[in-house]
This record gives sequence, C-alpha cells and structure tokens, in this order.
Amino acid sequence: MNAPSTPPGAAANPAPNIEDKFYHPRITKREDFASDLWMIRVQVGADFKFTPGQYATLGVNGPDKRSERAYSIVSSPYENEVEFFFELVPQGELTPKLYKLQVGDELLMRKSPKGLFTLDKKSGHTKHFLICTVTGLAPFVSYVRTLYKDWKEGKFNGEHQLYVLNGASRSWEFGYCAEMQKFASEAPWLKYVPTVSRPWEDEKWKGETGRVDELLRKYADMWGMAGDNTTAYLCGHPDMIENGKGILRRAGFNKESMKEEVYWIPPKEAAGH
Ligand SMILES: Cc1cc2nc3c(=O)[nH]c(=O)nc-3n(C[C@H](O)[C@H](O)[C@H](O)COP(=O)(O)OP(=O)(O)OC[C@H]3O[C@@H](n4cnc5c(N)ncnc54)[C@H](O)[C@@H]3O)c2cc1C
Repeated sequence: MNAPSTPPGAAANPAPNIEDKFYHPRITKREDFASDLWMIRVQVGADFKFTPGQYATLGVNGPDKRSERAYSIVSSPYENEVEFFFELVPQGELTPKLYKLQVGDELLMRKSPKGLFTLDKKSGHTKHFLICTVTGLAPFVSYVRTLYKDWKEGKFNGEHQLYVLNGASRSWEFGYCAEMQKFASEAPWLKYVPTVSRPWEDEKWKGETGRVDELLRKYADMWGMAGDNTTAYLCGHPDMIENGKGILRRAGFNKESMKEEVYWIPPKEAAGH
C-alpha cells in the first residue's frame, strides 16, 4: 500500500532527526594517567548547561549501531570545555571505542545532562563526605573546581566543608591527585585523602593505605561526621558503595543522608572482589 501523500498546502511533517539530540564535541586534549585510565577535554561548540555532579551521555557510532554510556562530568560549568575521566573496560562495548579517540576526533554527546548526584545544600548539613574509587572522583572534581572559583570570587565563604576520600589500587590511578592536593592546601573548606589499596605494588607511596570502605569509619570519626551534620556521597565501584553504605548506616547515617552514583552493575558470577 502506498503511504498517504501530504495534502496540497499542508506542511510536511518532518521525520524526527535523531541527530538533533546530539552534540558532536571535538577532543581538544587527552592525557593518559595509566594504561587503562585517561581523561579528555572536548569543545562542545554550543552552550551545554549542567550542574556539578551531573553526567553526560557519550556515544560513538559503529558500523551497525551507536554505543552510548553515562559519564560524570569532571569540569566545572564555569569552564568553556567539558572534561571526562575514563577507565578502559577491555571487554566493554564503548570504552575500547572511546580509547581509540585522539585529539581532533569527534564523538557524540546527548544534549541533556542528567543526574541528581549534586551537592546537597538543602538539608542543612554543612559537611559533605565524598567517597570514591578511581573514576568516581569525577563529579567531586566538578564540585571542587566550581566552589574554588566561587570562593576566590567571594561568592562562597566556606560554609560547606568537603572531605574527599579517594581510593585506587595504586597511586598512578588517581588522575587528579595533584590538583586536589593543591586545592586542599589553599582552601580551608577542603580535605583530600587519597588511599592506595595495593601498597605492595607501589612501594614509593607514602600516603594512606587501605580500601576506601575500610577507612570510612576512621575518617568519619576523625572529621566529626555523623548523620545529623553530614551528607555522604558514594561514587564508583558497586561493591565499595554497598559496603560503604552499610558502614555509614551503622555509624548513624540514614537514607536521606547518603547519595550514591553506582557506575556499573557487576555481573552475578563476578560479584564481590
Ligand atoms: C551515572 C554514571 C556515571 C558514570 N561515570 C563514569 C565515569 O566518569 N568514568 C567511567 O569510566 N565510567 C563511568 N560510568 C560507567 C560507564 O557508564 C560505563 O558503564 C563504563 O565505561 C563501561 O562501558 P563499556 O561499554 O566499555 O562496558 P560495558 O559493555 O557496559 O560493560 C561490560 C562489562 O563490564 C562491567 N563493567 C563496566 N564498567 C566497569 C568497570 N569500570 N570496572 C569493571 N567492570 C566494569 C559491566 O558490568 C559489564 O559486565 C558511569 C556510569 C554511570 C551510571
């Protein structure tokens, strides 16, 4: 059967253009921190508005289909480029494709940022316990870059205090350690503790050791953080988040005082680490 033709004089109803939902940002910088960890900065070429803590949906077109995944935004909305921090999942669908991209290459980015993993300024809590593994630091860098600029410009007086506990297996996986340490050395409202869980593979490391979930309680007590004055944010590895929530619950944090951003769902047979 023939499709009905458009009546004379009526405007043709244009087919929705799938491309309208995407920007085509171009990579302006790439830095590799380890063989499976790297960052990129992209020029979006449009006004991409987001709140620190949100994520973008990035994609790459393949011969048969488009692959898309969520990625927390590292940069602050004040910056004119958007930054991401990736971990390569060798058997994954998208990250091996993203890994091939170099400066000058384009990718796809959905026009709408998403997510509610933003800084809680409404509960009345003034302490913020930011707990993460590896790339899970990304949204926290965005909070800190934004608050730092506000603080320098007198728009933020340190009425919120941020305490970051950042875990990785080895120190070269932190990515943003030097930047965070520099901010923390200047800003009285920021504490940053990187911790290495495999110090035997990183003999030069002189800092904190142990997994993030093992250290949560120690730092919560040391920094005077409890469920009635603190919001906790857990980001990254699903097992760390599960364990971390249990420990915080036992330390008196209720559901409303904990936010989480789980980066992936472990396959059933591989659950546990
Ligand atoms: C809100 C949100 C924000 C995110 N932000 C980031 C970010 O800033 N940086 C980042 O690198 N990733 C981030 N992720 C994860 C990202 O969306 C992808 O899941 C990840 O990059 C893997 O994609 P893939 O297509 O290569 O692997 P997939 O094909 O999706 O996964 C293959 C298998 O690997 C497992 N898997 C996925 N990721 C990992 C991992 N890191 N380690 C071990 N196993 C894994 C999956 O469970 C699956 O079994 C975020 C996820 C969410 C939901």
